[in-house]
Amino acid sequence: MRTTQSQSKPSGEHSAARPLQLRFRDAELEHQFLLSYRAASRPWVRMSLVVALTTTLGFAVIDHWLLVGPRLARPDIWRFGLQLPLVLIMMVLSTPRLYMRWYQAAIQTAAPLFGVGTVLMAVEATPAQLPLVAARLLLVAFFFYFMLGLSFRAAVRCNLLLIAAYSTAALLGAIATPVAIYSLWVLFCANLIGGAGCYALEYANRVAFLERRRLAEVATHDGLTGLLNRAALEEQARSLWQHAQVARLPVSVMLIDIDHFKAYNDRYGHQAGDRCLQEVAAAIRMAVRRRPLDVVARYGGEEIAAILVGGDRADASGAAERALKAVADLGIAHSASTTRPYITVSIGVTTVDPGGSYSHEHAVRLADIALYASKDRGRDGWSFHEPAGEGGGVGTGELLKTAS
Ligand code: GH3
Ligand code: MG
Ligand code: MG
Repeated sequence: MRTTQSQSKPSGEHSAARPLQLRFRDAELEHQFLLSYRAASRPWVRMSLVVALTTTLGFAVIDHWLLVGPRLARPDIWRFGLQLPLVLIMMVLSTPRLYMRWYQAAIQTAAPLFGVGTVLMAVEATPAQLPLVAARLLLVAFFFYFMLGLSFRAAVRCNLLLIAAYSTAALLGAIATPVAIYSLWVLFCANLIGGAGCYALEYANRVAFLERRRLAEVATHDGLTGLLNRAALEEQARSLWQHAQVARLPVSVMLIDIDHFKAYNDRYGHQAGDRCLQEVAAAIRMAVRRRPLDVVARYGGEEIAAILVGGDRADASGAAERALKAVADLGIAHSASTTRPYITVSIGVTTVDPGGSYSHEHAVRLADIALYASKDRGRDGWSFHEPAGEGGGVGTGELLKTAS
């Protein structure tokens, strides 16, 4: 026998975050961030690709208008033969059906290839045109950092490839050395500025992602026990009910109430009561949840509710037995209890067919009746409420089985 100990439960997500490295330590958290970030960035990416299309065509017009010369045909090959097809392919891959699966993989190749196209145009330029064409490299660099929905790491990778392509062209003598050195320096500066901005943006996105999750957690979870709160239970119950109806699965509802809890508070104080509630909640959650869809929530006060999907009555009764035993095994001393010298619970449970006439509210009422039966029978036990057949209402079922 023992008294309760504090069981504070940090969410762990903020400590799991390593924003400085722009990667969450928890692989699942990282995966979820990437999914949500990609999904959110799709409209922006679509718009950016339209911008890429327009500016590429705009450069075609202005090149033909202002940079008239004998070497104009070759840049058009890279422009119309490489860059525009790349933009069009990426536009197709940014449609909703293809975006999540293909866009990110493809853009990491398409973006550097587009950059190579700009480098090749610089190679084709006359000495007089070269600084103008090289200036486009800056636009490409910033485009990688801010417009394509790339992560900071991916954007840096694409820019390094761009610098490598330009350096190679310079080393092969295709670009005059002073211009190459100057352009590379400007490109380096652009990378410092663009990289810093892109880093700050992704950092802020990651912090906002964690904050959103925390807010969602606060809105759906009970602060004391960490279980789902009543509102979230109602919402989940509705969707579970629909799922169970479609999948033709039975659903069990279990209500669990701590025995003589007011007396416990009076004897040991409210803070000890809180810690007791935390321990009981954690024990019940561990004991009851077996399937991914199973839900355990704080129903209110010292009452906990569980919804178990897919199990039959024997299954639900087994869960009730386990919950009873798990709480007793905690061995939380309760000298003011007239039932046992330790904390116990009473349980009411029912299993219904959601395809029949039973709503989840009906099922909760049946479980509640069974819970009161357990209390009447002396507590520290569970009762099963057998629902009546089709068309049967609340209270028309009979109490099938009780155990203590
Ligand atoms: P029974 O065996 O019939 O269930 O008796 P009980 O005393 O457990 O039931 P009752 O409804 O009379 O009292 C419930 C008590 O639960 C009263 C309330 O102070 C306490 N309680 C409800 N929520 C909390 C909480 O968050 N923390 C603490 N410490 N106590 C709580
Ligand atoms: Mg109660
Ligand atoms: Mg109680």
